[in-house]
Amino acid sequence: MAACATTRHESRAMKYISTRGNSPAQTFSEILLGGLAPDGGLYMPETYPTFSATDLAAMRGMTYQELAFAVLSRFVDDIPAADLRDIVNRTYTPEVYCHTRAGQKAADITPTLKLEDDLYLLSLSNGPTLAFKDMAMQLLGNLFEYLLAKTAREINILGATSGDTGSAAEYAMRGKRGVRVFMLSPYQKMSRFQTAQMFSLQDPNIYNIAVKGVFDDAQDIVKAVSNDHAFKAEHKIGAVNSINWGRVAAQVVYYFKGYFAVTRSNDQLVSFSVPSGNFGNVCAGHVARMLGLPIKHLVVATNENDVLDEFFRTGVYHPRGSAQTYHTSSPSMDISKASNFERFVFDLVGRDGAKMRELMARVDAGGSFDLKAEGSFAKVADYGFVSGVSNHSHRMQTIRTVHEQYHVTIDTHTADGLKVALEHRESGVPMIVLETALPAKFEEAIVEALGHVPERPHALEGLEDLPQRFEVMEADVNAVKQFVAARIA
Ligand SMILES: *Cc1c(COP(=O)(O)O)cnc(C)c1O
Repeated sequence: MAACATTRHESRAMKYISTRGNSPAQTFSEILLGGLAPDGGLYMPETYPTFSATDLAAMRGMTYQELAFAVLSRFVDDIPAADLRDIVNRTYTPEVYCHTRAGQKAADITPTLKLEDDLYLLSLSNGPTLAFKDMAMQLLGNLFEYLLAKTAREINILGATSGDTGSAAEYAMRGKRGVRVFMLSPYQKMSRFQTAQMFSLQDPNIYNIAVKGVFDDAQDIVKAVSNDHAFKAEHKIGAVNSINWGRVAAQVVYYFKGYFAVTRSNDQLVSFSVPSGNFGNVCAGHVARMLGLPIKHLVVATNENDVLDEFFRTGVYHPRGSAQTYHTSSPSMDISKASNFERFVFDLVGRDGAKMRELMARVDAGGSFDLKAEGSFAKVADYGFVSGVSNHSHRMQTIRTVHEQYHVTIDTHTADGLKVALEHRESGVPMIVLETALPAKFEEAIVEALGHVPERPHALEGLEDLPQRFEVMEADVNAVKQFVAARIA
């Protein structure tokens, strides 16, 4: 009997620790509904699970759902396997990821599109809001509902959006028991398409609040409510922010799917180019590589907001203030501070919590840090990271070139990814560019580049004509609090 003691899958419990080293370790279910760790850090798995060559060989033939279960079950060990499998199967269905291009199969969930030899797009944007955030948010919606029901709890999600994140959250949480969403957006400041996408939802658990002001006014209200700890506790206020570990874990899956789709053998290497803002997507790529996926390069592509490119070139991480954030034609990458970057730095500094507290204290005080000076920068290359910048004219040119050469229309974010990808191609190594949004979402930019509107998925034609359900409100914290409280009672 003694020989049974060390079967490969016998799991120690998977615990999550804070990047700042001063919070108790927690399980997956414990961290899923929360935000930052109590010490201000981000949760990370205590150790990375790994896939052996045998595991990878078995994964090559798997469907998206099977891959998702294989990956996620390594990170989630406090939900019974049968339940997790059911959640994954309900989340990743062709009915949800149906906005495919001609020639793509919805059953692939994240199909690839070959542009030429060794150059591919990985379509991550075939879900309900036409952007890759659906890939993770849809899973979160089902996980939230499951965990809340199990513990007889509720959550009231309060958020602010300028478009993308808010709509992904609403489409993931609509109709979910135990969840209400209160989403603030700047009144009449989103595109007609984005507005229609959110405001046409008629689900009784979704509340759209159009605030008379700009995005920062909406965000300030959310911050003020979150800082009112009594209100927050009494009304069970939560968030679905980009630092949620569940979102990162869900995004690891499609790196595996993309890898198997463009290779014939697990001896091959591939590179991924990732249009980046908050570093959540490419952080998932880093995790995939740590799990054992044969990745050569992770290409971090930024727009004019080039905080990340500066780091990968120089070792200096210097977040900007929001006043120095440019509004660009790839708006979902307009960030001044990359909120998931702390996870990667944690690995770079050898998971030293004390070092992290020191580095992040400098950043939180408005300063910067220099990992070359700290001696931790060499690992960036070991982890396969490279970077580059794209600007408005690159974006327009790339959209035009892709349209002429391959008869494919890509969106502005994907164009940033492709522009930088081409600077890092190597012969014999397939390059996969992550397609983070469909062009229909950014019609104006496509008209500027190509002179005509992009094709829109059939199911979304006439979206702007649907009845809309929203509340217009002054930019006033108390008004928002009253609105929320009245709908929870
Ligand atoms: C959110 C988003 C990004 C940036 O992803 P991060 O995970 O924040 O780096 C890129 N493109 C689109 C279309 C997005 O919505």
